[in-house]
Parts: sequence; C-alpha cells; structure tokens
Amino acid sequence: MSQPPTERTRVRRSAKRGIYDKETVYAIVDAAYVGTVAYAAAGKVRQIPMAIWREGDALYIHGSTASGLMRDLAAGAEACIAVTHLDGLVLARSAFHHSMNYRSVVLYGKGREVVEAEAKERALDAFMNHLTPGRLSEVRPPTAQELKGTMVLAFPLDEASAKIRTGGPIDDEEDYKLPVWAGQVPLKLVTGEPLPDDRLKSGTATPAYLEGLPHEREAALSTT
Ligand SMILES: Cc1cc2nc3c(=O)[nH]c(=O)nc-3n(C[C@H](O)[C@H](O)[C@H](O)COP(=O)(O)OP(=O)(O)OC[C@H]3O[C@@H](n4cnc5c(N)ncnc54)[C@H](O)[C@@H]3O)c2cc1C
Repeated sequence: MSQPPTERTRVRRSAKRGIYDKETVYAIVDAAYVGTVAYAAAGKVRQIPMAIWREGDALYIHGSTASGLMRDLAAGAEACIAVTHLDGLVLARSAFHHSMNYRSVVLYGKGREVVEAEAKERALDAFMNHLTPGRLSEVRPPTAQELKGTMVLAFPLDEASAKIRTGGPIDDEEDYKLPVWAGQVPLKLVTGEPLPDDRLKSGTATPAYLEGLPHEREAALSTT
C-alpha cells in the first residue's frame, strides 16, 4: 500500500532510506510506546514526549483536558510527530563515518478530537491493548468523570515518512586497512521481569499475558 511522499515528507538526505508505504510506517508505529509531538502555538515551538498507539489509519495520543499541548492541538495546531527505534550503534574506522541503525517515522498533520463517547472508549481500549494485550478485561473501566477529564486526539497517518538504516559502517575505501575494530553494537528495548506492586491484594497471581509480552519490541520490516 504505497502512498507517494508529499513535498514535506520526501526524504532528501540519504533518500534511499526513505520509505512511504503504509505497512512500514504502521509497523514502526505499532512497535513503539512513545513518540515526540512537536507543534507551534502562540509563536512558540514545543516538543513533548507522549504515549502513542495506532488504530486503523490514525496515530492516537491522549492526555488531560487541562494539558496545554492537548488543548493547542485540539484547537488545530499543526503537529509533527516523530517515532524512533534505536537499533544499534554503528562504529566506523573513522570518527566521521560513525552512525546509528534505526527505524523512524515522521508524521505531519492536525489532530482530530475524538468526542463521541463510544469512539473515545474504543480508542482508549485500543491503547490498553497496545500496552498490555489481555489486560483490558481485568481492570476497572474508566468512570464517566475520568473519561470527561481525558482528551483523545487522532492524527491521520496520511502524510508520513519512514526512514530506516540497517547494516554496518560505510567507511572510506582507504580506511578499510586501518587496524581499528569496526562493526555494529545492536541495541534493543527489552521487557524485564514483572515486579508486583507492594500493595498487591494477597493471592493475586501474575497474569499469564505478562509472560506473553514481547521480549523485545521489534517490527518485521522490509528494507528493500
Ligand atoms: C536515532 C537517529 C539518530 C540520528 N542521528 C543523526 C545525526 O546525528 N546527524 C544527522 O545528520 N542525522 C541523524 N539522523 C537522521 C536524521 O533523522 C535526518 O534524517 C537527517 O539529519 C536528514 O535531515 P534533513 O533535515 O536533511 O532531512 P530531509 O531529508 O531534508 O527531510 C525531509 C523529510 O524527510 C522525512 N525524514 C527525514 N528524516 C527522517 C527520519 N529520520 N525518519 C522519518 N522521516 C524522516 C521527513 O518527512 C522530513 O520532513 C538520525 C536519525 C535517527 C532516527
């Protein structure tokens, strides 16, 4: 499902690393817990890290209705949202050619506030499922008051670019003879052992779905 880049999403620097098909963009977003949301309002620029998730063709964020960021974005401020997975350090033979392996997405657009109660609950359920699939049926659902105090914004993933770097260093030809170790140091986000809360009701077992959490958040991506 290819979507052509727009004037602002066309990757110019290392253009061969730019990817625009929805499968790749969605896979990078789905593998992430966090994105950074940048926007300008009242003549000032801001960039704030936020929890993100995807549902259908939109990237979602949520926050307090008292949050300045949520209010500015709901009022129509144009946003630029970046999602980054750092996959490794790339160590070259020269200082200049050091690099990083990564999968990233940049999305431009305006957020649409999800107002209708059922749609808002559905979006927040999708968020719970994104964080810990299987948990939704166990937890206390949000009260009307909690829902009222929570704003959900949907950003269409229509104008988005992905950029992916994989592989080892690319050194200058004459540097390959140098006796300098070169290669990659892979980096991964790894799920740790669950730590029960101090006030856990006695006899509450560790849920099976926690065992099933992905050990590493990775997306199966084609980089061709
Ligand atoms: C973890 C990480 C570390 C990086 N470190 C460096 C660094 O130290 N120095 C450096 O020069 N670059 C670094 N990059 C690459 C950087 O993100 C830019 O791609 C690069 O600097 C080119 O910037 P530009 O403004 O010339 O991009 P252009 O190619 O002019 O950008 C045009 C459009 O391409 C898209 N685009 C650009 N970069 C990305 C991206 N990374 N992901 C998705 N879409 C993108 C956007 O839609 C953007 O509007 C890093 C990337 C990542 C993910």
